[in-house]
Amino acid sequence: MAIYHPNEQPAPTYDAHTHLNDDKLYFDVPAYLGRAHEFQVLEMNVVGYNREGNRRALELAHQYEGIAAVIGFQPEDTPDFDDSARAELEEQLKDAAVVGVGETGLDYHWDTDPNVQMAAFEYQIELAKKYDLPVIIHNREAFDDVYQTLTKHDVKKAVIHSFSGTAEQAKAWAELGYYVSFSGVATFKKAKEVREGAKAVPLDQLLVETDAPWLAPTPFRGKTNEPGWTKYVVDSLAETLGMDRDELAKQTVKNAHRAFLGHD
Ligand SMILES: [Zn+2]
Repeated sequence: MAIYHPNEQPAPTYDAHTHLNDDKLYFDVPAYLGRAHEFQVLEMNVVGYNREGNRRALELAHQYEGIAAVIGFQPEDTPDFDDSARAELEEQLKDAAVVGVGETGLDYHWDTDPNVQMAAFEYQIELAKKYDLPVIIHNREAFDDVYQTLTKHDVKKAVIHSFSGTAEQAKAWAELGYYVSFSGVATFKKAKEVREGAKAVPLDQLLVETDAPWLAPTPFRGKTNEPGWTKYVVDSLAETLGMDRDELAKQTVKNAHRAFLGHD
């Protein structure tokens, strides 16, 4: 079943952050990819968060055209980021399918020890620098500490994943030269501040993502999200920015290629 009439195909999109490696999606990858292609979401980063998630991200990147891997340990999983996990991660980073380190960062919403989170974050920052890869940042209720850590380590290449702060914070990230990635959160009725954030980011630093299976955009809020729905994030963001949606789609693909693949 085609979702679009052939003449109405939207411009292709790049989902900068998705978790086809999550149990909710992993066992149906061909179906989700088929649907993504119907929505013209032809490229995506499958993002890891722990050992199993990273292995799956790499496996999918090797198996499917258009999938790249980002690997790392998310804040919640940092208690498992032991010496053996660190060694495995570094080995995996040498793989050509890897386009970033993450997701990593700080999350003060849950109760994972902040010191353990910080040690893992700093370790991954240094790994990213060593392999000249962007760091994919997970920040929840921790702006000041994340900002301070990134500047302390003089990080030049970073992507702020699923931005959910203020316009002032978006501007601060952009001024460091980082990419700011917008998810379904930007489509939520109450997320006016997040949309103001989008306006504060230069067009050539904007990315779009789903964070599937989480954060399904309006009109699917609360459902299991999937990469194809990047389309709705672009539609909504284009409206916010007063832009043609295809122009924005093309710009974000260009940005994603520059950020992750090293070419426009
Ligand atoms: Zn994520």
